[in-house]
Amino acid sequence: MLYFKACPKCLGDMHLTEDMYGAYKECMQCGLIQDIEAPKIVQVPVRKASKAA
Ligand SMILES: [Zn+2]
Repeated sequence: MLYFKACPKCLGDMHLTEDMYGAYKECMQCGLIQDIEAPKIVQVPVRKASKAA
C-alpha cells in the first residue's frame, strides 16, 4: 500500500511495511519510519443495574 506525499520530512511517497512488531510506514525517498497508530481499546463503562425501582 502506498501513501503519496505522506512523508512529513521530505513529502516523499511512503509505503506500508509490517514486521513482527506491527505495521509502519517507510518513506521511499529519505527512509523515515512512521509508526501506525494502534487501534485504541475502548473501555465500555459497566453500568450497575439499579435495584431501586
Ligand atoms: Zn521522506
